[in-house]
Amino acid sequence: MNKKYVIAFDQGTTSTRTIVFDEKGSIVSIAQKELKQYYPQSGWVEHDALEIYNDQLETFHQAVSNSGINPKDIAAIGITNQRETTVVWDRETGKPIHKAIVWLDKRTTGICKSIEDKGLSSYIKKNTGLVVDSYFSGTKLKWILDNVEGAQEKAEAGKLMFGNIDSWLIYKFTNGKKHVTDHTNASRTMIYNIKNLEWDEKLLKELNIPHSLLPKVQTSSSDFGIIEYKGIKIPIYGVAGDQQASLFGQGGFEAGIAKSTFGTGCFILLNTGTKQVKSKKGLLTTLTCSLDSEPVNYALEGSVFAGGASIQWLRDRMKIIDKASDTEAICSSIPPLNNVYVVPAFAGLGAPHWDCKAKGSVYGMTLDTGKEELIKATVEALAYQTKDVIGAMETDSKEKIVTLKVDGGASKNNYLMQFQADLLNVEVDRPKMIEVTAFGAALLAGIKAGIWTKSNIAQIREVDTVFSPKMDKKTRKKNYKGWKKAVKRTKSK
Ligand code: ADP
Repeated sequence: MNKKYVIAFDQGTTSTRTIVFDEKGSIVSIAQKELKQYYPQSGWVEHDALEIYNDQLETFHQAVSNSGINPKDIAAIGITNQRETTVVWDRETGKPIHKAIVWLDKRTTGICKSIEDKGLSSYIKKNTGLVVDSYFSGTKLKWILDNVEGAQEKAEAGKLMFGNIDSWLIYKFTNGKKHVTDHTNASRTMIYNIKNLEWDEKLLKELNIPHSLLPKVQTSSSDFGIIEYKGIKIPIYGVAGDQQASLFGQGGFEAGIAKSTFGTGCFILLNTGTKQVKSKKGLLTTLTCSLDSEPVNYALEGSVFAGGASIQWLRDRMKIIDKASDTEAICSSIPPLNNVYVVPAFAGLGAPHWDCKAKGSVYGMTLDTGKEELIKATVEALAYQTKDVIGAMETDSKEKIVTLKVDGGASKNNYLMQFQADLLNVEVDRPKMIEVTAFGAALLAGIKAGIWTKSNIAQIREVDTVFSPKMDKKTRKKNYKGWKKAVKRTKSK
């Protein structure tokens, strides 16, 4: 029997999908469901964990039946998930004791403050790679234990289980047989020690979290249990959080390779190899997808708050474009900008500036500045912000990036990608396959199943376009200097 298909479960913040890949890495079918968001209070965001499981199950069955393949030919399943979102469930009934608290949820800022007041920030940075923030799972887990009646006692009696969405789905799909997670997901909890690859006992004690709640941590490409589908047993062989899965799907498993996902925000990761780089520039240190045969690798992670969102602003608020894709032709139709910059600090400035009070601004306008210039400067701002993050990564890691792999909606913009290559002075490599995150999860599973090896991923990952830098050094320097000046003026202090 020739098992030649690999399935990816792609459980994201706004949707749940299942994708069937064939052995060439091509998509055979996709099924998708939108996920309901719950906003019980300002700043709170929840998901219904049972709904997530049901949606995943439904899309799984739909994708397999739409594909027309024989389910016996499915070699393995890989799971990629929204990171940090927290579920706690009852060990006996298997039912969640509270809605899942989503990564975006801010309810634990008070808990974070008390952690900082205890002087734990530097310990956390050193041992978990993260900054103290409500974003991560540890304080969300503590909040559930503190706020659901009887939860702390039940946890201490070993009657509860914690997991991120990956662990929850595995638990449900294996009928409660497995309580596991992988390195990438564990590294987003703020209670996992990325130096010695163990749950951090000191932090568990500080947060009053019993060890028995926690899933076993495995390498990302390993045996996570069996899913039964119409009497057929299919192994789960891959698990990774979405951003790390996309780095892996882009072939980013060596030091010096960076990826940027140009979505609503931009998520940038740089593989730093086996070196755990501690950032001085406010970036996070995180684990990349791990393989059984190799030591774990680390990555630096940074994000740009307003990426594609600023293109949406041009469309929906400024109303100077009809659709995002119009920007490419407009950018190419006018000469290079002469010192016009848009700094889209709509939600403040992220890494490496960290100024939450900064507001969006435009600089360098003259009487001949028109809407085309404003559009072009907004598109270019995505590239400038990405360069800021990558520059910080290079300073932190003392290494130069060798190539930038790109994906996400705005990576379709050829003008932007060329400008990005020019600014960074490195090649920007855009693959044909745009479902890079799901593909990363499928690869992890396919490697363990023996369908692919790490070395033949380069052939499976087909390149669409490589943008080579063309800008001369003087112009590059002048442009970036102007941007830095604009950012400096935008800062609140
Ligand atoms: P997300 O997954 O964060 O929802 P996507 O990866 O689907 O985002 O990308 C959508 C974003 O990309 C939108 O903010 C949109 O404005 C932007 N975008 C899409 N196409 C283009 C384009 N051709 N040029 C510039 N921006 C684009």
